[in-house]
Amino acid sequence: MRTEIPITFPYIAFLIINFIVNKAMFNSLFKTFVFSFIASFAQAQSTDKMDFEKYDPVSTLVVPQHATTKAKFPFIDVHNHQWTMGSGSLDGLVKDMNSLNMKVMVNLSGGNGSELKQMTDNIKQQYPNRFIVFANIDFDNVGAPGWTDKAVKQLETDVHNGANGLKIFKNLGFSVKDNTGKRVTVDDARLDAIWEKCAELKIPVLIHTADPKSFWNPVDSNNERWLELATHPYRKRSDTNPAPWDTLIAEQHRMFMKHPHTIFIAAHFGWYANDLAKLGQLLDEMPNVNVEFGAVIAELGRQPRRAKQFFSKYQDRILFGKDSWAPDEYATYFRVLETEDEYFPYHKKYHAFWAMYGMGLPDDILRKVYYKNALRIIPNIDKALFPE
Ligand SMILES: [Zn+2]
Repeated sequence: MRTEIPITFPYIAFLIINFIVNKAMFNSLFKTFVFSFIASFAQAQSTDKMDFEKYDPVSTLVVPQHATTKAKFPFIDVHNHQWTMGSGSLDGLVKDMNSLNMKVMVNLSGGNGSELKQMTDNIKQQYPNRFIVFANIDFDNVGAPGWTDKAVKQLETDVHNGANGLKIFKNLGFSVKDNTGKRVTVDDARLDAIWEKCAELKIPVLIHTADPKSFWNPVDSNNERWLELATHPYRKRSDTNPAPWDTLIAEQHRMFMKHPHTIFIAAHFGWYANDLAKLGQLLDEMPNVNVEFGAVIAELGRQPRRAKQFFSKYQDRILFGKDSWAPDEYATYFRVLETEDEYFPYHKKYHAFWAMYGMGLPDDILRKVYYKNALRIIPNIDKALFPE
């Protein structure tokens, strides 16, 4: 990253100015000034400034390495998105899953109605025990007469057609408006009957609310998510776009507490992976809530000792989730969970410009996180695919 010092110009400049200085007999103070000017000019020429995105130093640290392209135990990914499962062959997907040791994929993008039924039918015909589908609510026109009843009935039909859970996207809280144009809050009373129906049907609700808190902060040199906001500017939020982070998160928690018989899975560790003490306190207060770590493994990989304590204490409340379907990226997840490797790279710089450390979780906790907790919380997963 450093270029060779171009000595030609400063050297010639030195000769010329030395000549002038000697000839004109300037005083020594002025002489010092001139020489320091030349020195700083030469210095400026010697360093190439580099974009933060471009700087990608290869670690010279020599430590034991454990590549983990396949999970130690068969696992269930509870946070996945597949939009084209309604038709066509699922062979390629299953082949990729097998290479990772992923026995069951939970597709959270099931939609509803005929779209969902096509998906569950196609799965039944090909790999009935390798996929679980979650339904989604159509939030168009909340508040219109009969909207809630219609949404509840649709959910019942979707579950009858093979859905085994409900996924709520972050548009609830961010962009969903009612029929008068008002933002629908996550704890809006018009949605209460939906959460209660989930309890009755014994299906979990996996919900993503808000985004990392840094998205609300100034996009400056102090923001840990600066690169993500620089490359994805539309992710920037503010207190009025649409509401403060704390407001959205508080709406979610009020909703969780209002429906204690409904089982919730807070996506992305509820955006508290960087504050596990706070997350632990929330889990203590809300026994119906579980968490999954999709897209936030880099937060755990930078605090392996603290994260290991958290996984030990809340081992029955944590599920394996990944979110974006990029098979190569699962290796980072396995390595953080399973190994005690030190200072290894993360796969996406805008999530983490820092290196990862493994938690080295014991087998009994790994089994819970990889499949036992999901088997308990999500109905109709084929237990025969998993040990014990
Ligand atoms: Zn997602």
